[in-house]
Amino acid sequence: MKKGIHPNYKKVQVTCTSCGNEFETGSVLDEIRVDTCSNCHPFYTGRQRFVAADGRVERFNKKYGIKSEEQE
Ligand SMILES: [Zn+2]
Repeated sequence: MKKGIHPNYKKVQVTCTSCGNEFETGSVLDEIRVDTCSNCHPFYTGRQRFVAADGRVERFNKKYGIKSEEQE
């Protein structure tokens, strides 16, 4: 590789804000935060519900005393 023209590609810690999962990947960034990861993404978990309905909405409803709808 030529020197000076490539960004500093290194290992970074990725944090999933949905499930708290942490893993390493390579990036030029210092830190990565993602809303969903391979641990909680519906594609990998096999669940049909969107992950946001799991975390944020539920938390919001709890906070304001709203009983969440029954999900099949
Ligand atoms: Zn996750």
